[in-house]
Amino acid sequence: MTVTREAVLAALATVVDPRSGRDVVQAGVISGLVVRDGHVGFAVEVDPREGAAMEPLRARCERAAEGVPGVLSVSAVLTAHTARPEHQGGHDHGHGHGAQAKPALPGIRSVIAVASGKGGVGKSTTAVNLALALARRGLAVGLLDADIYGPSVPRLMGLSGKPDTRDGKKLLPMRAHGVACMSIGFLIEEDTPMIWRGPMVISALTQLLNEVEWGALDVLVCDLPPGTGDVQLTMAQRVPVTGAVIVSTPQDIALIDARKGLNMFRRVEVPVFGIVENMSTFICPHCGERSDIFGHGGARDTALKYDVDFLGEIPLSLPVRIQSDLGMPIVAADPDGPVTQAYLALADSVATRIETALGPQGRRPPRIVVR
Ligand code: ADP
Repeated sequence: MTVTREAVLAALATVVDPRSGRDVVQAGVISGLVVRDGHVGFAVEVDPREGAAMEPLRARCERAAEGVPGVLSVSAVLTAHTARPEHQGGHDHGHGHGAQAKPALPGIRSVIAVASGKGGVGKSTTAVNLALALARRGLAVGLLDADIYGPSVPRLMGLSGKPDTRDGKKLLPMRAHGVACMSIGFLIEEDTPMIWRGPMVISALTQLLNEVEWGALDVLVCDLPPGTGDVQLTMAQRVPVTGAVIVSTPQDIALIDARKGLNMFRRVEVPVFGIVENMSTFICPHCGERSDIFGHGGARDTALKYDVDFLGEIPLSLPVRIQSDLGMPIVAADPDGPVTQAYLALADSVATRIETALGPQGRRPPRIVVR
């Protein structure tokens, strides 16, 4: 039996909003309704001051939708139009240079920094697939390869050649897989020695941010170089980073490095959205069996211990590497596969945190996604 939006809306219209006395649909309380294959998702919008007191209303809406014949699952979430929270991830701010001092990038609603404590943990792979997954959720996404020591976005996105310019001053990003991309790798030859240091690094990054016609973006995903050096600091000091996503593998040593990354962002007052565990469970390419080669859950434990959110886990999967090398990221190559599902779930966690961080002025109506 096919479930229609109309049927769900009709069921929801039987629920009365106690504040206005009207039904919740008329009162504009329901937003982001998604109906897919019998799965229903929507948000119940409340004033933050009402908060948890509105939980019974949410539950009533959920039950009403569940009552529609053919509905398999309902996910109803309470969303409060909160202002930017006091702190992200539970750390305290209190040093001199807060986010307000950073100039906004015109047309760019949010900036996500993807970082890691050390190289080789899959940070670039995560940045690229996260960008594609956010784009698949309907956001206008840019990808900035700020890994100026080892730019890998051109290869991972299957891009080559040089970016165009319209006015001889600003560069146009190159597009691949629905994402606007810019990389220092487009501007230098592949065998140019990367001996950029200090001020040169800073000017390169500033150029990538300011001298590119990004256009209107919901989110600019930045692939930072590994570690906690100049670029990360510049980024944190000069760019209004909405949140940082720290990539880590399950191995302890990498987790120790992830902690370094967390601490660095906290020192420079960049909100940390949380940690992603990459190369988590191994999915056997032959039989699909899952096994935990490197152990599993270390990143979740670290997140708990350091009072940041755990954003999700990406399996270790051979096709991820193969597709990366082909310039066709897994999210594009295998749109329904298990790894893509993991990236989409990560994108949803990140998108939710972006909306929360932007607050009511900067945000769009919530998009509710049915998993
Ligand atoms: P970093 O940016 O942290 O240096 P990369 O994204 O370049 O790391 O990834 C390092 C290597 O690991 C690459 O060969 C990449 O294809 C591979 N890789 C990354 N994530 C995964 C994954 N989830 N499963 C399998 N291989 C992965």
